[in-house]
Amino acid sequence: MFEIRLQISVFTSKKFITFNPIFQTLLRFPVKDIIQLLPDSLANQIAAGEVVQRPASVVKELMENAVDAGAIQIQLVVKEAGKTLIQVIDNGTGMSETDARMSFERHATSKIKTTDDLFSIRTMGFRGEALASIAAVAQVEMKTRREGEELGTIIKIEGSHTKVQEAITCPVGTNLCVRNLFFNVPARRNFLKSNAVEMRHIIDEFHRIALSYPEKGFSLIHNDTEIYKLTPGKLSHRIVALFGKTYREQLAACQEDTPFISIHGYVGKPEFSKKTRGEQFFFVNNRFIRHHYLHHAVMSAYESLVPEDAFPFYVLFIEINPVHIDINVHPTKTEIKFDDERAVYAIVAAAVRKALGTNNLMPSLDFEVKVNFDDFLLPKNKPTTPSQPVSYPQKTPLEKSNQQNWQKLYADFQEAFFKENEGVIQTTEPVAEEITFSSKINTIGEKSESDNYFEEESPEIFAIHNRFLVMQTKTGMMLIDRQLASERILFERFIEKMRNLTGGSQQLLFPVTIELNSSDYELLTEIEEEIGLLGFSFTQIGKTNIAVNGIPPEVTPGTEKQMLEGLLEQYKWNQAHLKLDSKENIARSLARKSSVKAGTFLSDQEHDMLIKQLFLTRKPNYAPDGKPVFTLLTFDKLVSLF
Ligand code: ADP
Ligand code: MG
Repeated sequence: MFEIRLQISVFTSKKFITFNPIFQTLLRFPVKDIIQLLPDSLANQIAAGEVVQRPASVVKELMENAVDAGAIQIQLVVKEAGKTLIQVIDNGTGMSETDARMSFERHATSKIKTTDDLFSIRTMGFRGEALASIAAVAQVEMKTRREGEELGTIIKIEGSHTKVQEAITCPVGTNLCVRNLFFNVPARRNFLKSNAVEMRHIIDEFHRIALSYPEKGFSLIHNDTEIYKLTPGKLSHRIVALFGKTYREQLAACQEDTPFISIHGYVGKPEFSKKTRGEQFFFVNNRFIRHHYLHHAVMSAYESLVPEDAFPFYVLFIEINPVHIDINVHPTKTEIKFDDERAVYAIVAAAVRKALGTNNLMPSLDFEVKVNFDDFLLPKNKPTTPSQPVSYPQKTPLEKSNQQNWQKLYADFQEAFFKENEGVIQTTEPVAEEITFSSKINTIGEKSESDNYFEEESPEIFAIHNRFLVMQTKTGMMLIDRQLASERILFERFIEKMRNLTGGSQQLLFPVTIELNSSDYELLTEIEEEIGLLGFSFTQIGKTNIAVNGIPPEVTPGTEKQMLEGLLEQYKWNQAHLKLDSKENIARSLARKSSVKAGTFLSDQEHDMLIKQLFLTRKPNYAPDGKPVFTLLTFDKLVSLF
């Protein structure tokens, strides 16, 4: 109705302006006022567009309300992925008759009263628009009763119109049924995805809430089938109950308390990482959030422990004084802002690193990280200009040991290399054992006649950021990934040892005791023979503990624990993700663990040796996992870049 009126009045004034300019001033005032308040049902429907996008949004809002009402038992029942029914039954406080009615009004909430409250929100909800929005686009029935009141209230609302409100006998708490979502907005209804997709979204919401309140009981019933029945308990139990028994072994506890924030939760061991995103959870003051930057902080702690495209599991709870956050930046509230994001980043990264370290998943990187709140060294890739030399963080114990490794390896190599050139060493001993390679790339055949890329025997080598090497070639230039090159070298060396049954081991003066869990111990005994050929020797002490007596010559004394544990972790990862022959797996795992890492300083001479040794391998072009070790840029290609 008002649309028609609007057109007429615009039309009239336009006409008037065109033909009677003299009376313009007089008639500038509209003939009739045109602005009206939207009817509640329409306003709510518009608001619902933001709050209720799909059945999962309703699940989230209702479950959050139940949590806010202090319920300790919350049941979710859905039919047809929530398209026909979403029901949440809780044993929380319930509502009085007036509150029950009020709860469906827009901007009606019991959770905040003043602007100040906005800055100290501790409840999940606070906007007071969920129930009003849901009731605008569905058929809602609510039964609720407060403790101490004899009768409860039942309210039925459809498309914002109250159909029924009366007294009823019902249990304490609230039972809210949402039927036929979007029954009055066909466009939205048609927009919903398949039941499988919508159910996935519902389960995601359920996971988030169930994770953030392990002390509460939850159940989920879909089409009369019970999908989850979660009893109150510890967070670790909740994780296992939600994601499966295999999670029992993969959880590393994470705990860090600073005056600014505290963090607790679990991170997954690297080898359990998945190729798909999804099991990464951040909660800030128990509210699930997505935070790209913080995700990056966690990933930075896993760096080099998981492949770049893998996603480790994590459930991390951040507790922070609400004055430091703004949760109001997004209507569906999964994004928040921290006033000092950099501080949070640094603490999260340090906490995860510590968790991975204390669980012996990786060598102890900055264990004793002292966070300086004024000056954070962020691992951002800052562009560096020539006047600003790149500064690397101080070497970690791992890097230092890597370096020693390399120095040792080169010493060995240098000897072999020169002897070989003098014709003293015959590399091909009689083959004692054939090794089958699952990956073509690693099949050791005769060394293919590789091109002689360089003009000189020892081309000048430029190290870039202690990670890449650049050299001039006959036709242009070569760019080498140093770590991958070292992996190739070590891999072939280890394979050769297992093949020729010629290990060589350095015996330790003081055996090193390592505690293993039973599955790792099992694994170790399975591969004992092969790793024995590389130089590892150990004796069993106790049930699953070992004393390491000997290590491969390539392993620096002092790092035997981290190398052996790293080897096991990498072996398991390879086993889970790639079907490898066990010898190839061992060689690849140990090569990966003992390779020279980015950031490690090597001398010119060491680089020179590395290159020479690389081109003595049978497959210098590829790392054991198939990644290219180097790339060639021809002169023409270089010219075409500019
Ligand atoms: P908000 O949660 O943002 O306050 P809602 O529209 O979700 O807004 O709910 C409005 C009010 O209704 C809440 O503030 C609360 O007082 C009441 N309410 C909603 N659900 C429940 C429940 N399950 N148990 C008790 N009270 C509830
Ligand atoms: Mg709410």
